[in-house]
Amino acid sequence: MSDIFHIVCPHCLVVNRIPAARLGDQPKCGKCHQPLFSAHPVELNATTFMTHIERNDIPVLVDFWAPWCGPCKAMAPAFAQAAEKLEPQVRLAKVNTEAEQALGTQYGIRSIPTLALFSGGQEVARQPGAMSAGDIVSWVRSHL
Ligand SMILES: [Zn+2]
Repeated sequence: MSDIFHIVCPHCLVVNRIPAARLGDQPKCGKCHQPLFSAHPVELNATTFMTHIERNDIPVLVDFWAPWCGPCKAMAPAFAQAAEKLEPQVRLAKVNTEAEQALGTQYGIRSIPTLALFSGGQEVARQPGAMSAGDIVSWVRSHL
């Protein structure tokens, strides 16, 4: 494994090069100087999605959700808790499939919430249905 991780800034989309040993040291973006990790999921849209999926050296866990979906809203706090546990080894992100219908269609999202785990630009696992924070964390770790 490389000693340098490429990490996409959730604020300005610049790809940062972070030494592996410094990943846990609350690294900041070299361009916009904001924290690369804030223990909180990143909202992605059609413009930012592929950059995060393809340019991050860490896996990206995406929550496909919609505002009208009760189970999605119920799972949101659990997903945020999972972000606290999984960052900076994993980037957690959310896609609002109502606002970003093309992304939902492109990835064949048939029910929400659906969690999809991407690594190296490829989807490696998918799990439909709401999960607790503990279940999200153990499900992700079982695929790393
Ligand atoms: Zn930045």
